[in-house]
Amino acid sequence: MAHSERDHKKGPGSETGVIRKDHRNRIRVALVYPNTYSVGMANLGFQTVYRLLNEMDGVVCERAFLPQQSPESKSPVPIKTLESRRFLGDFDVVAFSISFENDYSNLLTILENAGIPLRAGERNSHHPLIMAGGVACFLNPEPLADFVDVFFIGESEPALHKIFEIFDPCKDHQVNALNLARSVPGIYAPCFYSVSYSSSGRIQSFVPTEDVPSVIQRVFASDLKTISTTSTILTPDAEFGRTFLIETGRGCPHGCRFCSAGYIYRPPRFRSLSQLIASIEEGATKTPRIGLVGAAVTDLPCLESLCDVIQKAKLDVSFSSLRADRLTDAVVSLLALSHVKTATLAPDAGSERMRRVIKKGIQEEDILSAAERLVLANIPNLKLYFMIGLPTETREDVLAIVDLCVKIKQVFLSASRIAKRIGTITVSVNSFVPKPFTPFQWVAMDPVKTLQKKLKIIQEGLRAVPNVRVNAENPKHTLFQGILSRGDRRTGELLLRLHKNHGNWPETLRESLDHPEEYALRKRPLDEILPWSFIDHGFETGLLVREYERALAEI
Ligand code: SF4
Repeated sequence: MAHSERDHKKGPGSETGVIRKDHRNRIRVALVYPNTYSVGMANLGFQTVYRLLNEMDGVVCERAFLPQQSPESKSPVPIKTLESRRFLGDFDVVAFSISFENDYSNLLTILENAGIPLRAGERNSHHPLIMAGGVACFLNPEPLADFVDVFFIGESEPALHKIFEIFDPCKDHQVNALNLARSVPGIYAPCFYSVSYSSSGRIQSFVPTEDVPSVIQRVFASDLKTISTTSTILTPDAEFGRTFLIETGRGCPHGCRFCSAGYIYRPPRFRSLSQLIASIEEGATKTPRIGLVGAAVTDLPCLESLCDVIQKAKLDVSFSSLRADRLTDAVVSLLALSHVKTATLAPDAGSERMRRVIKKGIQEEDILSAAERLVLANIPNLKLYFMIGLPTETREDVLAIVDLCVKIKQVFLSASRIAKRIGTITVSVNSFVPKPFTPFQWVAMDPVKTLQKKLKIIQEGLRAVPNVRVNAENPKHTLFQGILSRGDRRTGELLLRLHKNHGNWPETLRESLDHPEEYALRKRPLDEILPWSFIDHGFETGLLVREYERALAEI
């Protein structure tokens, strides 16, 4: 396989693969990633929708991102698309691709900067239809219900054609939203649903007010054989630089109980070797670096053969995920040949008990062996992911994180001596956030003070260990994420206040009289109507409850 790489200037001007189309007689879609250019361009879902929309003759799709602006800046920065430098307000549809709850407030910033009223009810037919999709929307779109006209729930490939066959730019928003909600599976138009609350503030009912589905079926691509998901545009300014990203599959067979990827992409699907080779050949004509992307890359059935192909083609490769118990010699040697300097492993919990509770399915020996083999293969640095605040977690479980890191350090040190090179172990500690559509969707998040105490145990326990560094997310930020993760429609008011406060969460919470922390901290009874209960992800009823009860039974 031949590959070529030219010298590229910094900035979006040095992109390759940009699609430019004439706007005349086409539906104009501005596809917006509600974060910066470098974050958005590293998102394969965003890039895929861009390509698929532009493959439709009747549609032109251009990209826009959150402008680089200080949070305190008072004057809005007008937002234009990269391709034709047109304002967002000049498009028929503004479609947001949203992966993370923390980007919700950026959506409001972008609408305001674009001169588009924030609330759907304040917009008229002169404004674009505001759509949103992406994984955050298929978990729980409700916090954004006041601001978005139409959500798409699921994987976009099977539905995009139908959406743009039905959407008519000459028609009013409400008419378009209703037509889409009635005719396209996966479309959820929140204005056609009414939510009532009990005196205790719980959701009492969630009912359609029009002839639209009462339950939204998540859409998924049942067969990935005809769908290749790869980078469309390469840019040196994306988070992964000029890496050609290839999605190896969707979903994950492991079903860890905290992880939405193990549930909402069911059933797990993998691409075939021939399909992946074709993608690699395409990528190799553009760049010598391939990124294999997926929740379960190391579970790919054809991984050994794929490693062989990549190695023979002399390409560098990176993996978006490595499971300690799936680390074969072929993967380790390919990483080493690719000059990877840091490998990431996710034990997630320190004790065997805690790993059983979360159904992680890896043992301490797997983790120690993976660490040793990676360092012996000349990959000097390790990054280890752990969570604190998991359901049923005790002080002993937290101390077990310290113990495991110390054991890994011992193995790491011996292997580093043999490899004659010593690097660093970075221990990344994140606070657990209960996610919709996981067996832990009902549990209470730990209060910030409890999380801070747990974090301190780890920081103090590892402080004196040389070559080990602890990186931790501030538990206060995790609380905000927890609020948005399980918020209902009323969280929209909170987002408006946050927007008014220029993203200042502590101030926003202080001003709130309705205790929004409860969204994160309250344990839900199993029979409560959850804000996302109207979405059907195709699970057998009872799967999540059963897994939740099994988790609690682990002692
Ligand atoms: S192995 Fe990783 S991706 Fe798969 S379910 Fe577990 S945490 Fe999620």
